[in-house]
Amino acid sequence: MESLYTAADRLERGETSSEQLVREALDRVASREEELHAFLTLLPEGSLEDAKESDKRRLGGHRRGLFDGIPWAAKDNLLTEGVRTTAASKILGDYLPPYSSTAVRRLDEQGAVLVGKTNLDEFAMGSSTEYSAYGPSRNPVDPSRVPGGSSGGSAVAVAAGMCHFALGSETGGSVRQPAAFCGVVGVKPSYGRVSRYGLIAFASSLDQIGTLTRDVRDAAAVLGAIAGGDPMDQTSAASPVPDYLAAVAEGGRELSFGVPPEYMREGVAPDVRAEVERVAAALERQGMRRREVTLPHTEYALDAYYIIAPAEASSNLSRFDGMRYGPRAEGQDLVESYHRSRGQGFGPEVKRRILLGTYVLSAGYYDTYYLQAQRLRTLLRQEFLRAFEQVDVLLTPTTPTTAFRLGEHTQDPLAMYMADALTIPANLAGLPAISVPGRPIGGLPVGLQVMAPPLREDLMFAAAATVEEVAAR
Ligand code: GLN
Repeated sequence: MESLYTAADRLERGETSSEQLVREALDRVASREEELHAFLTLLPEGSLEDAKESDKRRLGGHRRGLFDGIPWAAKDNLLTEGVRTTAASKILGDYLPPYSSTAVRRLDEQGAVLVGKTNLDEFAMGSSTEYSAYGPSRNPVDPSRVPGGSSGGSAVAVAAGMCHFALGSETGGSVRQPAAFCGVVGVKPSYGRVSRYGLIAFASSLDQIGTLTRDVRDAAAVLGAIAGGDPMDQTSAASPVPDYLAAVAEGGRELSFGVPPEYMREGVAPDVRAEVERVAAALERQGMRRREVTLPHTEYALDAYYIIAPAEASSNLSRFDGMRYGPRAEGQDLVESYHRSRGQGFGPEVKRRILLGTYVLSAGYYDTYYLQAQRLRTLLRQEFLRAFEQVDVLLTPTTPTTAFRLGEHTQDPLAMYMADALTIPANLAGLPAISVPGRPIGGLPVGLQVMAPPLREDLMFAAAATVEEVAAR
C-alpha cells in the first residue's frame, strides 16, 4: 500500500477520493483479516460516512489538512468516544468510552477516518499479541509467526495495507518491536511529548502513545499531528513541537552516532548484528561521524523494568473491580464480588503482573526491589545523557531476533520478556526512539533503532531519514 503522503497527494490532485481509499482499505481487510486478525472492532459504515463527508469538504474547498480523508486505525487501549474499547481484556469487553483520548481527538479534528480498533496483548502486557483475550494476530509476512506486540494489530494493519497509518502505545517497546517484526516504521516519542489522556494506563511513568507508518516521513507527519502539551495530562511537555518534516527533509548527514556495544552482544542474533554494522558503515560513507560510546548499565534495564512496570500496573489496574466497568461476577459479599470479577475478567499474564507488582511494593521488599529499580533507572538515564554529550544519536538493533513463531515463547515468560531487552532502556530513560526496517533476514523483516536525547525527536527523525535511505540500498 502507498504511504500516507502518496495518498494525500492523490487526494489533492483529485485522482482518488476518501471514499475510494476507505473502500480499498476495507477490501484489504475483507481479504486478509480472517487470517491475520488485526482488528477487535471494525467500523465499515462509520468510516464510509466519514469518508463521504471528507470528500464533500474537499469539494467545497474546506480541506482540513494532510490527514483529511485518510484511513487510519487505533490500538484498542486508546479511548474512542462511543466506540467499544476493550484493551483486549474481558474485563472491558463491552466498554463504551464517554470521551476520546487527546491523540485520537486531534486526528479526528484533522479529518482522519478511523476504520477500526486494533488487537493487542491484554492491557498492553506482552510482546506478541498472544495474550489478547480475543485471540492472537498473525504476521502478514509469515502468518506462522507473531507480529510482535503489544501493538501487534496496529503493525499488522499498516503492514497489510488495511490503513495508511496507525497509533499504538509503548511502555517497554510495544510500538518499535512489532514495527520491526512486521517491516514498518514505529516511533516511541519522548516521555511527555504526546498526551496520555485517554490512554488506558499500564505503567504511567513509562506509557507513551506512538506511531506506526510505512515510512519515516509519514511518522514525522503523524507525530507532529498528535504531539504537544495538553492541560488534561500534567506530564505532557508544554514546549513547542519542532518541525519534524523539516528534520526528515534535512536528513542526518551532519550528525554523529554511536553503536553501543552492550546492544550488540551474544543475546542478539549474528545476522541482526551484521545488518546493523552494514548500515553503520553506510552511514559513515554518507558523512555521519561514528564515535565510541558505552552504556554499561544496559544489562540491568530489563530487570528494573519488570519491577517498575508491574508495580505501577498493580496500582493502575485496581480500578477494574467489576463495580464501575465491564461485567461483574456477583459473590456473597463485596470482597467476593471483587475476587470473582477480577478472577474471571483478567487473563493469566495480567494476573502475573499484578502479583509481581504487589509483591515488589509490599513492606519489606519495597527497598530491596522497587527502590533499587528506581535507582537503576536514574543511573541509566544519566548514562544516556553522558553518551549524548559524545554523539547526537545512537544506532542499535530494535530486537535481538526477527519474529518468532506463534507459541514459541508463551510457556516461557522470560524468553518473551527478552524480546524487549533493546527497546526498554529508552522507555526507562524517557528518550525518543524509532524503528526503521533494515534489509530482511531470511525473508523476515528486521528493525534498526535510532535513539536520541529527550525531546530531540528532530535529531531522531533526521538520522532515521538517512538510515531509511541507506538501508534500502
Ligand atoms: N512487552 C513489554 C511488556 O510486556 C512491553 C509492553 C509495552 O510496551 N506495552 O511489558
